[in-house]
Amino acid sequence: MSDNRRDFIKKSTLIGLSGLVSTLFGNEKLSHLESLSKLSDSEILFYLPKLPYSYDALEPYIDKQTMEVHHSKHHQTYVDKLNKALENYNEDKSLNLLLKKASDSNTAIRNNAGGHFNHSLFWQLLIPNPNGEKSIPLAKLNEAINIQFKSFDNFKKEFTEIALKTFGSGWCWLILQEGKLKITSTLNQDNPLMNMASENGKPILALDIWEHAYYLKYQNKRADYITNWWNIINWKKAEELFLDK
Ligand code: MN
Repeated sequence: MSDNRRDFIKKSTLIGLSGLVSTLFGNEKLSHLESLSKLSDSEILFYLPKLPYSYDALEPYIDKQTMEVHHSKHHQTYVDKLNKALENYNEDKSLNLLLKKASDSNTAIRNNAGGHFNHSLFWQLLIPNPNGEKSIPLAKLNEAINIQFKSFDNFKKEFTEIALKTFGSGWCWLILQEGKLKITSTLNQDNPLMNMASENGKPILALDIWEHAYYLKYQNKRADYITNWWNIINWKKAEELFLDK
């Protein structure tokens, strides 16, 4: 990437966004899976990232079948539809700009750029916990959570309440907004990096609350899915996102 282009991206992003996107997608072209859609090579901009663990690694909290369908079908479809939607799009196709300008884009770009980004982040923020060890934030994020929410338990309670009351399909987020932590939710595949989101900020935690994320195992019991999700949060990744200001 040229210095000019790098500067341009840096100047035109929200808080820490270019760093976040390059952290997540820097090796994207090296990590794609097969079946990349019917587009020719030159038209493929985005790829499905490999998971950093196997489909059954998050058992018993998230089951193998859900992980496999969620990653290889749902996420793959967002990637394919995003590539398709960008076929005749003549502006800058970098993911950070597509998100930042989401309100100007058509619905297909908005939904699928969001879907690709949100899931790529979601996978990285999960980690196996086969022995059911206690899962708690690392030092700096823990300190900030205690300052902002009084205690980790209180933070969990507030986050869970917002995730539960979000109607229909969406995501629940812990974001860093002007140096402060905040819990927010978005509908569909929107996220806090999009210009029209009610709260903008850098994602630190991401929870998929679409039924496709939990229905096979939990059916309608979103609360049980959320309770179990707390056991498999990759707090090291969250700490990195938090410190990479
Ligand atoms: Mn999903």
